[in-house]
Amino acid sequence: MSQLKYCQGPRCHTYDTKDRKRGPKDNKRNETRRRSSFYYLDGNACSMQCMYDWFNVYGSRALDHFGRTTQPKVLTQDNAWRVRRSYNWDDRQQDTFYVYNYLTQERRPITEQQYDNDLAVTTDGRLAI
Ligand SMILES: [Zn+2]
Repeated sequence: MSQLKYCQGPRCHTYDTKDRKRGPKDNKRNETRRRSSFYYLDGNACSMQCMYDWFNVYGSRALDHFGRTTQPKVLTQDNAWRVRRSYNWDDRQQDTFYVYNYLTQERRPITEQQYDNDLAVTTDGRLAI
């Protein structure tokens, strides 16, 4: 069983919904939502609104902390590779695997093992085989 965690939206408790209400009749209050998992903000916010609230308060600081993009990133033939799977719906054993270059449209076959283990292309799109 996974542990409960709180929504990280800084204004979560200000949204007036039934499930946020706590306390006795004479001392009602709204609390931040608590769940075992969330769908937004990579599993840290209960709603799109809470995700945007988080970004509005902390987003710029996060960018400064992790480093802003100060130069254009460039896609060239060298880093335009992605792994792909071509499904054979009649016989899954016949699926084919290949690397594909978005700029040149070149295809090169790879093995299923290279596909499964992310061995053919680096995370920045370069051929690793
Ligand atoms: Zn929330």
